Amino acid sequence: MNGLDEKKEQNAWDNFIAILKNKLPMPIWVESLEPAISIYENKEDIFLIKSNQSFAINFLQQKHLKEVEEAFEEATGFKRAVRFVFDENVKPKKKPKLTPEQKEHSKTAQKMENLAQMYSFCALNLKYTFENFVEGENSRLAYKIAQIIAQAPGQKYNPLFISGSVGLGKTHLMQAIGHKILKNFPNLKIRYTKAEEFGNKLIESLNSCKNASDINEKMKKFRDMHRNVDVLLIDDIQWIDGKKRTEEEIFNTFDALYHAGKQIVFASDRPLSAFELIPDRLRSRFEWGIEVNITVPDLNTRIEIVKRHAIASNYPITDEVAKFLAQEFSSNVRELEGAYNKASALASIEGVELTVEKVKEFLDLNSRKKNISFNNILEICSKYFTVDKKDILSSARAKEVVNARKYAIYFSRELLELSYSALAKEFKKNHTTIMYQYDKLKDEIKTNKAMSMIASELNELIKK
Ligand code: ADP
Ligand code: MG
Repeated sequence: MNGLDEKKEQNAWDNFIAILKNKLPMPIWVESLEPAISIYENKEDIFLIKSNQSFAINFLQQKHLKEVEEAFEEATGFKRAVRFVFDENVKPKKKPKLTPEQKEHSKTAQKMENLAQMYSFCALNLKYTFENFVEGENSRLAYKIAQIIAQAPGQKYNPLFISGSVGLGKTHLMQAIGHKILKNFPNLKIRYTKAEEFGNKLIESLNSCKNASDINEKMKKFRDMHRNVDVLLIDDIQWIDGKKRTEEEIFNTFDALYHAGKQIVFASDRPLSAFELIPDRLRSRFEWGIEVNITVPDLNTRIEIVKRHAIASNYPITDEVAKFLAQEFSSNVRELEGAYNKASALASIEGVELTVEKVKEFLDLNSRKKNISFNNILEICSKYFTVDKKDILSSARAKEVVNARKYAIYFSRELLELSYSALAKEFKKNHTTIMYQYDKLKDEIKTNKAMSMIASELNELIKK
Protein backbone atom coordinates (compact mmCIF):
# COMPACT_ATOMS: atom_id res chain seq x y z
CA MET A 1 0.00 0.00 0.00
CA ASN A 2 1.34 3.48 -0.75
CA GLY A 3 1.94 6.12 1.89
CA LEU A 4 -1.20 8.03 1.17
CA ASP A 5 -3.47 5.07 1.75
CA GLU A 6 -1.67 4.22 4.91
CA LYS A 7 -2.29 7.69 6.16
CA LYS A 8 -5.90 7.54 5.14
CA GLU A 9 -6.21 4.26 6.89
CA GLN A 10 -4.61 5.57 10.07
CA ASN A 11 -7.01 8.50 10.00
CA ALA A 12 -9.99 6.24 9.55
CA TRP A 13 -8.82 4.12 12.44
CA ASP A 14 -8.22 7.14 14.68
CA ASN A 15 -11.67 8.42 13.83
CA PHE A 16 -13.16 5.08 14.60
CA ILE A 17 -11.47 5.00 17.98
CA ALA A 18 -12.56 8.54 18.78
CA ILE A 19 -16.17 7.90 17.80
CA LEU A 20 -16.26 4.63 19.64
CA LYS A 21 -14.96 6.19 22.82
CA ASN A 22 -17.84 8.59 22.76
CA LYS A 23 -20.34 5.83 22.46
CA LEU A 24 -19.08 3.69 25.31
CA PRO A 25 -19.64 4.02 29.02
CA MET A 26 -16.05 2.89 29.64
CA PRO A 27 -13.86 4.33 26.88
CA ILE A 28 -10.75 2.87 28.45
CA TRP A 29 -11.46 -0.51 26.83
CA VAL A 30 -10.71 0.95 23.45
CA GLU A 31 -7.03 1.47 24.21
CA SER A 32 -6.05 -2.12 23.68
CA LEU A 33 -7.50 -2.38 20.18
CA GLU A 34 -5.65 -2.69 16.92
CA PRO A 35 -6.89 -3.42 13.43
CA ALA A 36 -6.29 -7.09 12.58
CA ILE A 37 -7.02 -6.58 8.93
CA SER A 38 -6.60 -3.45 6.94
CA ILE A 39 -9.69 -1.32 6.50
CA TYR A 40 -9.17 -0.99 2.77
CA GLU A 41 -8.12 -4.53 2.08
CA ASN A 42 -11.11 -6.01 3.73
CA LYS A 43 -13.17 -7.76 1.09
CA GLU A 44 -15.02 -10.19 3.25
CA ASP A 45 -17.42 -7.70 4.75
CA ILE A 46 -16.06 -8.51 8.17
CA PHE A 47 -13.69 -6.18 9.87
CA LEU A 48 -11.44 -7.83 12.40
CA ILE A 49 -9.97 -6.13 15.40
CA LYS A 50 -7.36 -7.65 17.63
CA SER A 51 -6.55 -7.03 21.23
CA ASN A 52 -4.46 -8.58 23.95
CA GLN A 53 -7.20 -7.95 26.49
CA SER A 54 -9.67 -10.79 26.53
CA PHE A 55 -11.67 -8.82 29.01
CA ALA A 56 -12.06 -5.88 26.64
CA ILE A 57 -12.92 -8.24 23.79
CA ASN A 58 -15.66 -9.91 25.73
CA PHE A 59 -17.00 -6.66 26.92
CA LEU A 60 -17.15 -5.07 23.48
CA GLN A 61 -18.28 -8.17 21.60
CA GLN A 62 -21.03 -9.08 23.96
CA LYS A 63 -22.28 -5.79 25.28
CA HIS A 64 -21.43 -3.14 22.74
CA LEU A 65 -21.18 -4.72 19.33
CA LYS A 66 -23.84 -2.39 17.99
CA GLU A 67 -21.90 0.71 19.03
CA VAL A 68 -18.69 -0.73 17.59
CA GLU A 69 -20.28 -1.41 14.22
CA GLU A 70 -21.94 1.99 14.15
CA ALA A 71 -18.66 3.70 14.98
CA PHE A 72 -16.95 1.79 12.20
CA GLU A 73 -19.54 2.86 9.68
CA GLU A 74 -19.45 6.48 10.80
CA ALA A 75 -15.68 6.59 10.62
CA THR A 76 -15.14 4.82 7.32
CA GLY A 77 -18.42 4.94 5.46
CA PHE A 78 -18.32 1.15 5.20
CA LYS A 79 -20.94 -1.02 6.73
CA ARG A 80 -19.11 -3.97 8.20
CA ALA A 81 -19.70 -6.65 10.75
CA VAL A 82 -16.97 -6.27 13.31
CA ARG A 83 -15.42 -9.19 15.12
CA PHE A 84 -12.63 -9.46 17.64
CA VAL A 85 -9.73 -11.83 17.96
CA PHE A 86 -7.51 -12.37 20.94
CA ASP A 87 -3.85 -11.74 20.14
CA GLU A 88 -1.40 -11.70 22.95
CA ASN A 89 1.18 -9.92 20.80
CA VAL A 90 -0.70 -6.66 20.61
CA LYS A 91 1.55 -4.18 22.32
CA PRO A 92 0.06 -2.74 25.46
CA LYS A 93 -0.52 0.97 25.12
CA LYS A 94 -0.16 3.48 27.86
CA LYS A 95 -3.38 3.97 29.72
CA PRO A 96 -4.90 7.31 28.84
CA LYS A 97 -5.55 9.75 31.64
CA LEU A 98 -9.17 9.66 32.61
CA THR A 99 -11.06 12.90 32.79
CA PRO A 100 -12.52 13.64 36.21
CA GLU A 101 -15.90 12.93 34.75
CA GLN A 102 -14.81 9.50 33.59
CA LYS A 103 -13.18 8.80 36.92
CA GLU A 104 -16.39 9.73 38.54
CA HIS A 105 -18.03 7.29 36.26
CA SER A 106 -18.05 4.56 38.78
CA LYS A 107 -16.62 2.25 41.26
CA THR A 108 -17.72 -0.63 39.08
CA ALA A 109 -15.44 0.64 36.38
CA GLN A 110 -12.55 0.44 38.81
CA LYS A 111 -13.59 -2.99 39.91
CA MET A 112 -13.75 -4.17 36.35
CA GLU A 113 -10.36 -2.67 35.70
CA ASN A 114 -8.88 -4.56 38.65
CA LEU A 115 -10.43 -7.73 37.48
CA ALA A 116 -9.09 -7.13 34.01
CA GLN A 117 -5.60 -6.66 35.36
CA MET A 118 -5.80 -9.84 37.31
CA TYR A 119 -6.90 -11.73 34.23
CA SER A 120 -4.19 -10.22 32.16
CA PHE A 121 -1.55 -11.50 34.59
CA CYS A 122 -2.86 -15.03 34.31
CA ALA A 123 -3.30 -14.60 30.56
CA LEU A 124 -6.61 -16.43 30.66
CA ASN A 125 -9.28 -15.97 28.04
CA LEU A 126 -12.58 -15.08 29.68
CA LYS A 127 -14.58 -17.30 27.41
CA TYR A 128 -12.77 -20.45 28.41
CA THR A 129 -14.68 -21.41 31.55
CA PHE A 130 -16.30 -24.65 32.67
CA GLU A 131 -19.66 -22.97 32.29
CA ASN A 132 -18.99 -22.40 28.61
CA PHE A 133 -17.63 -25.88 28.04
CA VAL A 134 -20.04 -28.46 26.69
CA GLU A 135 -19.27 -31.80 28.18
CA GLY A 136 -19.65 -34.75 25.83
CA GLU A 137 -18.69 -38.38 25.59
CA ASN A 138 -15.49 -37.17 23.90
CA SER A 139 -14.32 -35.16 26.88
CA ARG A 140 -15.95 -36.82 29.87
CA LEU A 141 -12.89 -38.04 31.72
CA ALA A 142 -10.83 -34.94 30.92
CA TYR A 143 -13.66 -32.74 32.15
CA LYS A 144 -14.11 -34.68 35.35
CA ILE A 145 -10.43 -34.65 36.24
CA ALA A 146 -10.17 -30.97 35.37
CA GLN A 147 -12.93 -30.25 37.86
CA ILE A 148 -11.32 -32.30 40.56
CA ILE A 149 -8.10 -30.38 40.08
CA ALA A 150 -9.92 -27.07 40.23
CA GLN A 151 -11.38 -28.08 43.60
CA ALA A 152 -8.04 -29.13 45.07
CA PRO A 153 -5.05 -28.06 43.00
CA GLY A 154 -1.79 -29.89 43.55
CA GLN A 155 -3.38 -32.73 45.49
CA LYS A 156 -4.23 -35.43 43.04
CA TYR A 157 -3.51 -35.92 39.36
CA ASN A 158 -0.33 -33.95 39.13
CA PRO A 159 0.61 -33.22 36.45
CA LEU A 160 -2.47 -33.39 34.27
CA PHE A 161 -1.58 -34.04 30.66
CA ILE A 162 -4.42 -33.25 28.23
CA SER A 163 -3.90 -34.57 24.71
CA GLY A 164 -6.06 -34.42 21.60
CA SER A 165 -5.88 -33.08 18.08
CA VAL A 166 -6.25 -29.46 17.09
CA GLY A 167 -9.37 -27.46 17.84
CA LEU A 168 -11.03 -29.89 20.23
CA GLY A 169 -11.06 -27.85 23.43
CA LYS A 170 -7.76 -28.56 25.19
CA THR A 171 -6.87 -24.92 25.70
CA HIS A 172 -10.42 -24.19 26.76
CA LEU A 173 -10.46 -26.93 29.37
CA MET A 174 -7.04 -26.08 30.71
CA GLN A 175 -7.97 -22.45 31.12
CA ALA A 176 -11.27 -23.44 32.72
CA ILE A 177 -9.19 -25.02 35.48
CA GLY A 178 -7.43 -21.68 35.90
CA HIS A 179 -10.66 -19.71 36.08
CA LYS A 180 -12.21 -22.03 38.60
CA ILE A 181 -9.15 -21.98 40.84
CA LEU A 182 -9.13 -18.20 40.69
CA LYS A 183 -12.68 -18.27 41.85
CA ASN A 184 -12.26 -20.93 44.53
CA PHE A 185 -8.90 -19.72 45.81
CA PRO A 186 -8.49 -16.04 44.94
CA ASN A 187 -5.08 -15.93 46.60
CA LEU A 188 -3.46 -18.54 44.43
CA LYS A 189 -1.24 -17.37 41.63
CA ILE A 190 -1.93 -18.87 38.26
CA ARG A 191 0.09 -18.58 35.11
CA TYR A 192 -0.91 -19.73 31.66
CA THR A 193 1.71 -19.86 28.94
CA LYS A 194 2.29 -21.53 25.64
CA ALA A 195 5.38 -23.74 25.42
CA GLU A 196 6.62 -21.71 22.48
CA GLU A 197 6.35 -18.49 24.42
CA PHE A 198 8.12 -20.14 27.32
CA GLY A 199 10.92 -21.31 25.01
CA ASN A 200 11.31 -17.96 23.27
CA LYS A 201 11.42 -16.02 26.50
CA LEU A 202 13.92 -18.47 27.87
CA ILE A 203 16.28 -18.02 24.94
CA GLU A 204 15.90 -14.28 25.09
CA SER A 205 16.77 -14.30 28.78
CA LEU A 206 19.70 -16.64 28.28
CA ASN A 207 21.06 -14.50 25.49
CA SER A 208 21.19 -11.58 27.82
CA CYS A 209 23.48 -13.49 30.21
CA LYS A 210 27.10 -12.64 29.57
CA ASN A 211 28.55 -16.06 30.36
CA ALA A 212 27.37 -19.42 31.56
CA SER A 213 27.77 -18.68 35.24
CA ASP A 214 26.11 -15.32 35.09
CA ILE A 215 22.47 -15.65 35.90
CA ASN A 216 21.35 -12.14 35.39
CA GLU A 217 18.26 -10.22 36.30
CA LYS A 218 16.41 -11.23 33.19
CA MET A 219 16.90 -14.91 33.78
CA LYS A 220 15.90 -14.55 37.37
CA LYS A 221 12.77 -12.74 36.31
CA PHE A 222 11.99 -15.48 33.86
CA ARG A 223 12.33 -18.16 36.54
CA ASP A 224 10.31 -16.21 39.07
CA MET A 225 7.57 -15.80 36.59
CA HIS A 226 7.14 -19.55 36.19
CA ARG A 227 8.18 -20.82 39.58
CA ASN A 228 6.54 -18.33 41.90
CA VAL A 229 3.12 -19.59 41.04
CA ASP A 230 0.69 -22.08 42.51
CA VAL A 231 -0.68 -23.32 39.25
CA LEU A 232 1.25 -23.48 35.99
CA LEU A 233 -0.64 -24.18 32.79
CA ILE A 234 1.61 -24.92 29.81
CA ASP A 235 -0.15 -25.17 26.49
CA ASP A 236 0.98 -26.84 23.26
CA ILE A 237 3.78 -28.65 25.07
CA GLN A 238 4.46 -30.76 21.94
CA TRP A 239 6.44 -27.74 20.74
CA ILE A 240 9.35 -28.58 23.06
CA ASP A 241 9.92 -32.07 21.69
CA GLY A 242 13.60 -32.17 20.77
CA LYS A 243 14.39 -28.61 21.90
CA LYS A 244 17.03 -29.48 24.43
CA ARG A 245 17.44 -26.24 26.32
CA THR A 246 13.70 -25.67 26.70
CA GLU A 247 13.20 -29.28 27.77
CA GLU A 248 15.78 -28.84 30.46
CA GLU A 249 14.18 -25.67 31.75
CA ILE A 250 10.74 -27.29 31.75
CA PHE A 251 12.23 -30.19 33.65
CA ASN A 252 13.71 -27.92 36.31
CA THR A 253 10.59 -25.79 36.52
CA PHE A 254 8.53 -28.93 36.86
CA ASP A 255 10.64 -30.29 39.70
CA ALA A 256 10.64 -27.00 41.57
CA LEU A 257 6.86 -26.72 41.38
CA TYR A 258 6.07 -30.37 41.88
CA HIS A 259 8.09 -30.67 45.05
CA ALA A 260 6.43 -27.58 46.44
CA GLY A 261 3.05 -29.23 45.86
CA LYS A 262 2.01 -26.91 43.04
CA GLN A 263 -0.33 -27.96 40.28
CA ILE A 264 0.93 -28.35 36.74
CA VAL A 265 -1.21 -28.88 33.66
CA PHE A 266 0.04 -29.58 30.15
CA ALA A 267 -1.92 -29.63 26.92
CA SER A 268 -0.62 -31.24 23.78
CA ASP A 269 -1.70 -31.82 20.19
CA ARG A 270 -0.02 -35.20 20.41
CA PRO A 271 -0.32 -37.99 22.92
CA LEU A 272 2.73 -38.46 25.09
CA SER A 273 3.50 -41.70 23.27
CA ALA A 274 4.05 -39.71 20.08
CA PHE A 275 6.76 -37.50 21.53
CA GLU A 276 9.86 -38.72 19.81
CA LEU A 277 12.84 -36.85 21.09
CA ILE A 278 11.96 -35.98 24.62
CA PRO A 279 14.47 -37.21 27.26
CA ASP A 280 13.28 -40.13 29.35
CA ARG A 281 13.52 -38.29 32.63
CA LEU A 282 11.11 -35.60 31.38
CA ARG A 283 8.78 -38.15 29.81
CA SER A 284 8.58 -39.97 33.10
CA ARG A 285 7.67 -36.71 34.90
CA PHE A 286 4.83 -36.19 32.44
CA GLU A 287 3.66 -39.69 33.26
CA TRP A 288 3.57 -39.19 37.01
CA GLY A 289 0.08 -37.80 36.93
CA ILE A 290 -2.58 -38.71 34.44
CA GLU A 291 -2.97 -38.36 30.70
CA VAL A 292 -6.47 -37.71 29.42
CA ASN A 293 -7.46 -37.58 25.79
CA ILE A 294 -10.10 -35.39 24.16
CA THR A 295 -11.55 -36.81 20.95
CA VAL A 296 -13.91 -35.43 18.31
CA PRO A 297 -17.32 -34.56 19.77
CA ASP A 298 -20.35 -36.39 18.39
CA LEU A 299 -23.08 -34.64 16.42
CA ASN A 300 -25.28 -33.75 19.39
CA THR A 301 -22.38 -32.34 21.34
CA ARG A 302 -21.32 -30.27 18.34
CA ILE A 303 -24.84 -28.94 17.96
CA GLU A 304 -24.87 -27.92 21.60
CA ILE A 305 -21.44 -26.30 21.31
CA VAL A 306 -22.36 -24.18 18.32
CA LYS A 307 -25.69 -23.20 19.86
CA ARG A 308 -24.03 -22.06 23.07
CA HIS A 309 -21.35 -20.25 21.17
CA ALA A 310 -24.09 -18.50 19.19
CA ILE A 311 -25.89 -17.39 22.32
CA ALA A 312 -22.66 -16.15 23.87
CA SER A 313 -21.94 -14.22 20.67
CA ASN A 314 -25.31 -12.52 20.87
CA TYR A 315 -26.54 -13.90 17.60
CA PRO A 316 -28.52 -17.06 18.32
CA ILE A 317 -29.33 -19.49 15.52
CA THR A 318 -32.16 -21.89 14.79
CA ASP A 319 -31.85 -25.57 15.63
CA GLU A 320 -31.82 -26.31 11.94
CA VAL A 321 -28.84 -24.04 11.28
CA ALA A 322 -27.01 -25.38 14.32
CA LYS A 323 -27.50 -28.92 13.09
CA PHE A 324 -26.43 -28.06 9.58
CA LEU A 325 -23.23 -26.39 10.75
CA ALA A 326 -22.47 -29.25 13.11
CA GLN A 327 -22.91 -31.74 10.27
CA GLU A 328 -20.74 -29.81 7.85
CA PHE A 329 -17.94 -29.08 10.30
CA SER A 330 -17.46 -32.31 12.08
CA SER A 331 -13.83 -32.69 13.00
CA ASN A 332 -12.67 -29.42 14.51
CA VAL A 333 -14.65 -27.25 16.91
CA ARG A 334 -12.60 -24.17 16.11
CA GLU A 335 -13.60 -24.49 12.46
CA LEU A 336 -17.20 -25.03 13.46
CA GLU A 337 -17.18 -21.83 15.51
CA GLY A 338 -15.32 -20.02 12.73
CA ALA A 339 -18.00 -21.04 10.25
CA TYR A 340 -20.68 -19.74 12.58
CA ASN A 341 -18.77 -16.48 13.11
CA LYS A 342 -18.51 -15.83 9.42
CA ALA A 343 -22.08 -16.81 8.57
CA SER A 344 -23.60 -14.81 11.42
CA ALA A 345 -21.49 -11.77 10.64
CA LEU A 346 -22.57 -11.79 7.01
CA ALA A 347 -26.20 -12.35 7.93
CA SER A 348 -26.18 -9.40 10.29
CA ILE A 349 -24.53 -7.20 7.67
CA GLU A 350 -27.10 -8.09 5.05
CA GLY A 351 -29.85 -7.82 7.59
CA VAL A 352 -31.20 -11.25 6.65
CA GLU A 353 -32.24 -14.13 8.80
CA LEU A 354 -29.64 -16.87 8.97
CA THR A 355 -31.16 -19.92 7.29
CA VAL A 356 -29.47 -23.08 6.10
CA GLU A 357 -29.64 -21.69 2.57
CA LYS A 358 -27.88 -18.53 3.64
CA VAL A 359 -25.21 -20.47 5.50
CA LYS A 360 -24.49 -22.44 2.33
CA GLU A 361 -24.29 -19.28 0.33
CA PHE A 362 -22.14 -17.35 2.81
CA LEU A 363 -19.73 -20.21 3.38
CA ASP A 364 -19.68 -21.22 -0.24
CA LEU A 365 -20.71 -24.74 0.61
CA ASN A 366 -22.66 -25.22 -2.57
CA SER A 367 -19.46 -25.94 -4.41
CA ARG A 368 -19.08 -29.11 -2.37
CA LYS A 369 -22.07 -30.60 -4.09
CA LYS A 370 -19.94 -31.19 -7.20
CA ASN A 371 -19.43 -34.76 -6.13
CA ILE A 372 -23.13 -35.37 -5.75
CA SER A 373 -24.92 -36.52 -8.84
CA PHE A 374 -28.56 -36.91 -9.78
CA ASN A 375 -27.98 -40.62 -9.75
CA ASN A 376 -26.63 -40.48 -6.17
CA ILE A 377 -29.77 -38.79 -5.03
CA LEU A 378 -32.00 -41.31 -6.78
CA GLU A 379 -30.01 -44.14 -5.35
CA ILE A 380 -30.19 -42.92 -1.77
CA CYS A 381 -33.91 -42.15 -2.01
CA SER A 382 -34.64 -45.55 -3.49
CA LYS A 383 -32.71 -47.32 -0.73
CA TYR A 384 -34.15 -45.18 2.03
CA PHE A 385 -37.76 -45.82 0.97
CA THR A 386 -36.99 -49.33 -0.33
CA VAL A 387 -38.43 -48.73 -3.76
CA ASP A 388 -37.04 -49.25 -7.20
CA LYS A 389 -35.12 -46.45 -8.90
CA LYS A 390 -37.03 -46.83 -12.11
CA ASP A 391 -40.33 -46.60 -10.23
CA ILE A 392 -39.26 -43.22 -8.88
CA LEU A 393 -38.81 -42.04 -12.43
CA SER A 394 -42.12 -43.55 -13.60
CA SER A 395 -45.59 -42.35 -12.78
CA ALA A 396 -46.27 -45.15 -10.29
CA ARG A 397 -48.62 -44.05 -7.50
CA ALA A 398 -47.70 -46.43 -4.64
CA LYS A 399 -47.32 -44.45 -1.42
CA GLU A 400 -43.64 -45.15 -0.80
CA VAL A 401 -42.79 -44.45 -4.44
CA VAL A 402 -44.55 -41.10 -4.30
CA ASN A 403 -42.67 -40.30 -1.13
CA ALA A 404 -39.30 -41.25 -2.55
CA ARG A 405 -40.02 -39.18 -5.68
CA LYS A 406 -40.95 -36.15 -3.60
CA TYR A 407 -37.65 -36.17 -1.75
CA ALA A 408 -35.68 -36.97 -4.88
CA ILE A 409 -37.15 -33.88 -6.56
CA TYR A 410 -36.54 -31.79 -3.52
CA PHE A 411 -32.88 -32.77 -3.15
CA SER A 412 -32.12 -32.54 -6.84
CA ARG A 413 -33.27 -28.97 -6.73
CA GLU A 414 -31.74 -28.22 -3.35
CA LEU A 415 -28.32 -29.77 -3.82
CA LEU A 416 -27.82 -29.72 -7.55
CA GLU A 417 -29.85 -26.63 -8.30
CA LEU A 418 -31.36 -28.38 -11.29
CA SER A 419 -33.90 -26.18 -13.06
CA TYR A 420 -37.58 -27.04 -12.92
CA SER A 421 -37.55 -27.88 -16.60
CA ALA A 422 -34.54 -30.17 -16.24
CA LEU A 423 -36.33 -31.90 -13.38
CA ALA A 424 -39.55 -32.06 -15.37
CA LYS A 425 -37.69 -33.93 -18.06
CA GLU A 426 -36.07 -36.41 -15.63
CA PHE A 427 -39.29 -37.17 -13.81
CA LYS A 428 -41.44 -37.01 -16.91
CA LYS A 429 -43.79 -34.49 -15.40
CA ASN A 430 -44.66 -30.98 -16.34
CA HIS A 431 -42.82 -27.98 -15.08
CA THR A 432 -45.58 -26.71 -12.74
CA THR A 433 -46.13 -30.08 -11.10
CA ILE A 434 -42.47 -30.23 -10.21
CA MET A 435 -42.50 -26.68 -8.94
CA TYR A 436 -45.57 -27.36 -6.83
CA GLN A 437 -44.15 -30.55 -5.35
CA TYR A 438 -40.85 -28.92 -4.51
CA ASP A 439 -42.45 -25.91 -2.81
CA LYS A 440 -44.89 -28.08 -0.92
CA LEU A 441 -42.24 -30.37 0.50
CA LYS A 442 -40.01 -27.46 1.34
CA ASP A 443 -42.78 -25.97 3.47
CA GLU A 444 -43.66 -29.28 5.05
CA ILE A 445 -40.06 -29.86 6.08
CA LYS A 446 -40.16 -26.60 7.96
CA THR A 447 -43.30 -27.45 9.90
CA ASN A 448 -43.50 -31.21 10.13
CA LYS A 449 -41.08 -32.78 12.52
CA ALA A 450 -41.11 -36.28 11.03
CA MET A 451 -40.55 -34.93 7.54
CA SER A 452 -37.79 -32.68 8.66
CA MET A 453 -36.09 -35.66 10.24
CA ILE A 454 -36.38 -37.68 7.06
CA ALA A 455 -34.95 -34.76 5.10
CA SER A 456 -32.01 -34.36 7.40
CA GLU A 457 -31.24 -38.07 7.38
CA LEU A 458 -31.38 -38.15 3.61
CA ASN A 459 -29.22 -35.07 3.46
CA GLU A 460 -26.62 -36.75 5.58
CA LEU A 461 -26.72 -39.93 3.51
CA ILE A 462 -26.47 -38.10 0.19
CA LYS A 463 -23.49 -36.07 1.34
CA LYS A 464 -21.65 -38.97 2.83
P1 ADP B 1 -7.40 -26.85 21.16
O1 ADP B 1 -6.64 -26.16 22.25
O2 ADP B 1 -7.70 -28.27 21.47
O3 ADP B 1 -6.77 -26.69 19.82
P2 ADP B 1 -9.40 -24.90 21.82
O4 ADP B 1 -9.52 -25.16 23.28
O5 ADP B 1 -8.68 -23.69 21.40
O6 ADP B 1 -8.82 -26.18 21.07
O7 ADP B 1 -10.87 -24.91 21.21
C1 ADP B 1 -11.18 -24.31 19.96
C2 ADP B 1 -12.49 -23.57 20.08
O8 ADP B 1 -13.55 -24.50 20.25
C3 ADP B 1 -12.53 -22.64 21.28
O9 ADP B 1 -13.20 -21.45 20.94
C4 ADP B 1 -13.32 -23.43 22.30
O10 ADP B 1 -14.05 -22.56 23.16
C5 ADP B 1 -14.25 -24.25 21.45
N1 ADP B 1 -14.59 -25.54 22.05
C6 ADP B 1 -13.94 -26.72 21.87
N2 ADP B 1 -14.53 -27.71 22.56
C7 ADP B 1 -15.58 -27.15 23.21
C8 ADP B 1 -16.58 -27.66 24.09
N3 ADP B 1 -16.63 -28.96 24.45
N4 ADP B 1 -17.50 -26.79 24.56
C9 ADP B 1 -17.47 -25.50 24.19
N5 ADP B 1 -16.55 -24.95 23.37
C10 ADP B 1 -15.61 -25.76 22.87
MG1 MG C 1 -4.89 -25.05 22.05
